Amino acid sequence: MSNAPELLLVEDDPQIRRFLRAAFSAEEYRFHEALTAAEGIAQAAARQPDLIVLDLGLPDRDGLEVIRQVREWSQVPIIVLSARGQEQDKIQALDYGADDYVAKPFAVGELMARIRAALRRSAAIADSGAGALFRAGPIEVDLDKRVVRMQGSEVHLTPIEYKLMQTLIRHAGKVVTQRQLLTEVWGPQHMEQGQYVRIYMAQLRRKLEADPARPRHLLTEPGVGYRLVAEPVA
Ligand code: CA
Repeated sequence: MSNAPELLLVEDDPQIRRFLRAAFSAEEYRFHEALTAAEGIAQAAARQPDLIVLDLGLPDRDGLEVIRQVREWSQVPIIVLSARGQEQDKIQALDYGADDYVAKPFAVGELMARIRAALRRSAAIADSGAGALFRAGPIEVDLDKRVVRMQGSEVHLTPIEYKLMQTLIRHAGKVVTQRQLLTEVWGPQHMEQGQYVRIYMAQLRRKLEADPARPRHLLTEPGVGYRLVAEPVA
């Protein structure tokens, strides 16, 4: 009867579950809880939630395994809760197909904002189908004609720059790891060439950001990768 989004929380820590239960109720989300990875995978399949909030440190199996299995059949947004300082876990979770992450201890307001953003993105994808025109502030990319404009004037991108932009658009709003960009733009044989990504991101910013030193759309996620945002964060 309700159209409220349905969330699945996979978390073994009772305090965090209690605290999120209150936050989800306040937002009027419907939600289910799973305490183990196995239960999380089973509930994801049975309930088909609109979004999953997943702790990586689970008692039975690594939370990464939940991402890997769920991604075999579903593109449901997954937001990972990762313990502080475990940068590698976060990057791996994104490589496995998680949409976003929040480091523990986290502010509930931040997690709720990430949840809203992820739900908006998946609703927008469901509505728009192809969405051949991408806009981010003054940047406009016509994906059919492969034309890029900045404040209305056409900008010439090299083939690699265009491919990088296209990849960022495909993941718009999400964090994309350096590894994902290398694989999708240059191919798996270039995995060690992290500098490619840095060089080409700098070129894109010079062409598409009003102030390349303070990008508003082509953002760096320190230690993890990059994120293309349509609406700059205030
Ligand atoms: Ca845990």
